[in-house]
Amino acid sequence: MQGVVFTGDRKLELQTFPDPVPGEGEVVLEIKASGLCGSDLKFYRSPPGAAAKALGLGTTGAVIAGHEPCGVVAAVGPGVAENQARVGARVMQHHYRGCGVCPHCSTGWMQLCVEGVKEVYGVTGHGAHARYMRCPARTLVPLPDELSFATGAAISCGTGTAWGALKRLDLAADQTIAIFGQGPVGLSATQLAHAFGARVIALDTSDARLARAREFGADVLINPATEKDVVGAIRAATHGRGAHASLDASSSPAARRQAVQCVRTWGKACFVGEGDTVTLDVSADMLRRQVTLIGSWTFSTVGQAECARFIADRGIDVDALFTQHWRLNQAEEAYRLFDTQSTGKAVFLMDAAA
Ligand SMILES: [Zn+2]
Ligand SMILES: [Zn+2]
Repeated sequence: MQGVVFTGDRKLELQTFPDPVPGEGEVVLEIKASGLCGSDLKFYRSPPGAAAKALGLGTTGAVIAGHEPCGVVAAVGPGVAENQARVGARVMQHHYRGCGVCPHCSTGWMQLCVEGVKEVYGVTGHGAHARYMRCPARTLVPLPDELSFATGAAISCGTGTAWGALKRLDLAADQTIAIFGQGPVGLSATQLAHAFGARVIALDTSDARLARAREFGADVLINPATEKDVVGAIRAATHGRGAHASLDASSSPAARRQAVQCVRTWGKACFVGEGDTVTLDVSADMLRRQVTLIGSWTFSTVGQAECARFIADRGIDVDALFTQHWRLNQAEEAYRLFDTQSTGKAVFLMDAAA
């Protein structure tokens, strides 16, 4: 089979790999949809191997990219229980491997494994930008019949990350949330928060992205490129008190600071954007207003399943996040466009029926 490999400095290759065979406790998935994620870009853009090394994840040899896997079980290895995986089952995959038995792994948080995460699929282990992918059966999460494979791919990272953050914030229907950055994760958060019944203030420096946010349920739009007093504008939209909650999906240091400053007394701010820094005036921005600051990294297998169930039950159109659908042999063009960060979310669909 062929798989997409980032070779560094904004280059990628379709390389040939042997079709995987499941070992003890493992399955092989036939991938139907594999999402492109903003976090791919640090590996796509960096010199060969540098980004994985910076994460403390040593790699050996070429690794197939893609950490938003969704497809069907194609083969089951020895030692996998019937109720854990059966051939033909529609599944998503939680894209981390841990020890499987520590307190975090056994509650579905393999990325927090006390022994250190052993594999991040699509980064240190072969991912989903290929026809087949091998993984432990315990990393599978059922895909509800109502959901497309593309929606499953979105839930496997970006949309699931938005879900995890909103759950950490305990967002309620009578609350207002300010969401900074309306890329795929921020836009998913807007869509889910709207479905929760909350009021959404969406922020982005692109008017086109703000227009999309409006379509996804945002009530108030603020463009920080033209609005000089972002915190003041959020206060003005909340009777002078500030938002109950905020979420930063932009990774911008300025946006992060505003995300903390814009919440009301006893409010909560959550960061999901990766990388970069933030500077806070701790007393004024946090202590004097009893602000809770939350860091949120993706989700557990349990949270992933709950997110999918919610989206299916509420009929949420997650497929609308995708503005680009690609074949695997268009990978170069797909990432060249995705690298501009001017589009919506993109996905590889492995066949027409996906
Ligand atoms: Zn991702
Ligand atoms: Zn563990």
